[in-house]
Amino acid sequence: MLPTPVPRRPPGPRGEHFAVLDPATGEAFDEAPDQRPEELDTVVGRAHQAWRGWRADPAARTRALLAAADAVEAARAELAPLLTREQGKPLAESVAEVARTAARLRYFAGLAPVPRPIDDGRPVRSEVRWRSLGPVAAIVPWNFPLQLAAAKFAPALAAGNPVVLKPSPFTPLATRLLGSVLAGALPEGVLTIVTGLEPLGARLVSHPGIRHVSFTGSIPTGRAVAAGAAPSLARVTLELGGNDAAILLEDVDVERIADRLFWAAFRNCGQVCMAVKRVYAPARLRDQVVEALAQRARAAVVGPGLDPGTQLGPLNNAPQLARVEHYTARALADGARAAAGGHRLDRPGHFFAPTVLADVPPDSPVVTQEQFGPVLPVLAYRSVDEAVAAANDTGFGLGGSVWGTDLDRAEAVADRLECGTAWINHHAELSLAQPFAGIKESGVGVAGGPWGLYGNLRPFVVHRPEEG
Ligand code: NAD
Repeated sequence: MLPTPVPRRPPGPRGEHFAVLDPATGEAFDEAPDQRPEELDTVVGRAHQAWRGWRADPAARTRALLAAADAVEAARAELAPLLTREQGKPLAESVAEVARTAARLRYFAGLAPVPRPIDDGRPVRSEVRWRSLGPVAAIVPWNFPLQLAAAKFAPALAAGNPVVLKPSPFTPLATRLLGSVLAGALPEGVLTIVTGLEPLGARLVSHPGIRHVSFTGSIPTGRAVAAGAAPSLARVTLELGGNDAAILLEDVDVERIADRLFWAAFRNCGQVCMAVKRVYAPARLRDQVVEALAQRARAAVVGPGLDPGTQLGPLNNAPQLARVEHYTARALADGARAAAGGHRLDRPGHFFAPTVLADVPPDSPVVTQEQFGPVLPVLAYRSVDEAVAAANDTGFGLGGSVWGTDLDRAEAVADRLECGTAWINHHAELSLAQPFAGIKESGVGVAGGPWGLYGNLRPFVVHRPEEG
């Protein structure tokens, strides 16, 4: 596996700011504060102070989170273009991401933990109640900076915890703006945003004042985060990489599903943890599937996210572009054929042509690793057992999907997938109310729905005899 690119502070004197690039041009357009790791002592200390008042009043928390959701919606016209500028995605997708950010605040504002009596036949009244944990460190990647931040801070705040949030150094600006927007709705110290190059994140996860580390990012960084949090024994929730397979069955209607399948792989330029990252098609249908996807790849409008009509923006950053280019070149060298794309675009910015690959050897890294870009390998299979075995033969375990006309049969195949979520004739459609948990190396712990709320709480048992 290639190492994950992480912007690091260059040796020598520390700058007070770092540059933020527009991926559509590759040029710096703004900067963000490069906060020193030592500043975290003050930040986490303030979070501890804010915790006392925040955990004490659930009704006030609900009101504050609903006001926060309103504030995010009201700031959509400022947040969405800035998100596109630093992340690269089409503006309409940024607008949708802002809406999903507000939706997460609203959803968790309406959730409360339920105390539960324990009845085990003994003459005792025991009850499980729920208590907040203390300061939560939330660390997010650059593919969905706002929505993933909210997926962490909304349940943590709803549970009564203060949060220190660190965005990726590739996408700090919309998150900083979000912080200013939320400052009007939340008490001081309850949500603090810190920005900076590494080792800021490493210091945050190992800070002794942090009681829960909620991390989304790559598997290698997830390992470093778990190790960093080990000395303090803080709770760790890890939402990590995926390499989701889509299995097409013999009775699939290729033309009917082709648009859905294509966008399940290429949305956000393929930079989605739960994107379709490999397709398994019956040998008889392989060429038809490749051509249906390749047609769509050739027709997709690629351009700057702020241009009206753009369907696919650039990759977010130069190291990610290099990674996608490397995996694609390696597949072509391994004997794959590019039915569409196969190369970066000859223009400024981090653009890569939407790529569909056929005849890829199953052990090529574009199949076995997470490409996280607009490149999709299509592999032929001879039996469903072979397809299921190939889909499961991986250390990843985020999602998977099965596509066919007979839904019962498709569901029976989906039931055999080793992953956290399996879809039929869809992929990566998530409800706020469902648990979200990768298995194997794709994650530790559960986010989403009530499970996400309880992941930010600890049980507290009161045990009282019937008589003194
Ligand atoms: P990354 O692991 O490089 O970085 C994620 C975050 O961790 C960034 O904020 C980064 O600055 C920070 N970081 C880096 N080193 C750190 C350290 N030692 N300690 C603490 N924090 C550190 O990931 P990325 O390249 O930004 O994002 C892409 C990855 O995220 C992909 O693997 C993708 O699948 C994964 N992802 C997973 C989910 C999910 O829910 N499972 C969702 C989105 C993205």
